[in-house]
Amino acid sequence: MKNMFTDIAIIGGGASGLLCGCAISKRYLKDNKKVSVTIFEKQQRVGRKILSTGNGKCNLTNAYANSKNYHGSFARYVDNLFQRYSPSYVVECFKKIGLLCTEDSNGRVYPLCKQASAVLDVLRFENERNGVELVCDTDVIEIKKSKGLFEIITANGSYQAKSVVIATGGKAAPKLGSDVKIYNTLKKSGHTCKPLSPALCAVPVKSDVIKSLKGVRCDGDVTLLCNDKAVKKESGEIQFTENALSGICVFNLSGYINGGDKNNRYEINIDLLPDFSFTDVKKLLTGRISLYKNEVIENLFVGLFHKRIGLALLKQSGIKTLSDKCSTLSDKNIDRLCENIKSWRFTALPCDSFDNAQVTSGGISGSEIDCNTLESKLVKNLYFCGEVIDIYGDCGGYNLQFAFASALAVGDNI
Ligand SMILES: Cc1cc2nc3c(=O)[nH]c(=O)nc-3n(C[C@H](O)[C@H](O)[C@H](O)COP(=O)(O)OP(=O)(O)OC[C@H]3O[C@@H](n4cnc5c(N)ncnc54)[C@H](O)[C@@H]3O)c2cc1C
Repeated sequence: MKNMFTDIAIIGGGASGLLCGCAISKRYLKDNKKVSVTIFEKQQRVGRKILSTGNGKCNLTNAYANSKNYHGSFARYVDNLFQRYSPSYVVECFKKIGLLCTEDSNGRVYPLCKQASAVLDVLRFENERNGVELVCDTDVIEIKKSKGLFEIITANGSYQAKSVVIATGGKAAPKLGSDVKIYNTLKKSGHTCKPLSPALCAVPVKSDVIKSLKGVRCDGDVTLLCNDKAVKKESGEIQFTENALSGICVFNLSGYINGGDKNNRYEINIDLLPDFSFTDVKKLLTGRISLYKNEVIENLFVGLFHKRIGLALLKQSGIKTLSDKCSTLSDKNIDRLCENIKSWRFTALPCDSFDNAQVTSGGISGSEIDCNTLESKLVKNLYFCGEVIDIYGDCGGYNLQFAFASALAVGDNI
């Protein structure tokens, strides 16, 4: 092994670790100080997850990010962090290292070239320019501290470092490198790891009609109910899979279910016509029934909903005589249909697999981390950035915004 000592060791060469490497090295180069920085990455290449973000386009921040978009014990410190490391500051930092960005109407920021690989490349180039050593294929198994120095035990031997940054991410999407063994070593040094659960993923549901809707998409409002109480409402495209509801609006509900009390009863309520009141929907249906009076009931929703959504609504409303004429529908039938259009209920089940989750709920407790410097309050010269901390954001660039902002804060304070 070439160099068994490094001033600063960054564990994890993902989004936060790579930007942290750039920020630290740039600062010390500016001050003309010779400080060695090494990034340890267990995979053969750094930043694999970045390549998969934003469907290959990388939604790297969101112009409107604030604490309301975040969950977990560090969420309350986010506004303070973003005062200094705002989304526009992050965009500016990327511009300085060669990446130009563009913002859509929802504040989502992407590289101008719409290639996630460009984000990874500019981070790699800047680290290389600044002399940061990237040590790949090196799994960090344990970190110990004695006599003011850290010992970083890897599968390939041990390193010593004066300071360590934990940028190992969470447990989500394990095929992209996620690994949780670092939490065990952190627990040994007294840190608390809040329970880990998958977030930003599809929500499995129990329903008689879900199978028949596989592959269908529609727009609407989704509301998460916990023991009949509304918890969170989102709007957007809902995607139906064989046994789950999916789509960004559903992803944003999933963390509450997966991380919630197992005894809670969760339901997802879909409003298929959010711009219509119940009375409007009733008027609409009555009008259709008079227009389609000689058509079979099966065709009642043609021109309004996807054919299979229409059939599922009829089934859920207990209407079995699909070959009868629309004119035979009773007032009770119409009321049931209106209820299901405005509030179509699905029993939601927790998902325990991290395979298809975008992020992890849980991680190192926010109360054990200095919210300005991101240094551990328990172990001096130990810093955290990114998803390893107990915080996650909604879909829309919020998770990378946190990864980058926290990395920049470490860079300025280490
Ligand atoms: C499919 C997908 C799409 C996403 N799209 C977006 C998006 O568009 N916008 C957005 O804001 N967020 C998105 N996210 C979430 C975002 O990618 C993460 O929140 C972000 O990457 C977290 O950065 P991180 O540096 O904390 O962790 P990671 O990026 O996960 O990096 C951690 C790195 O540490 C390495 N590592 C772990 N343990 C060890 C160890 N013991 N030794 C050495 N190395 C180790 C891992 O291999 C990994 O490379 C997406 C996530 C997924 C899975």
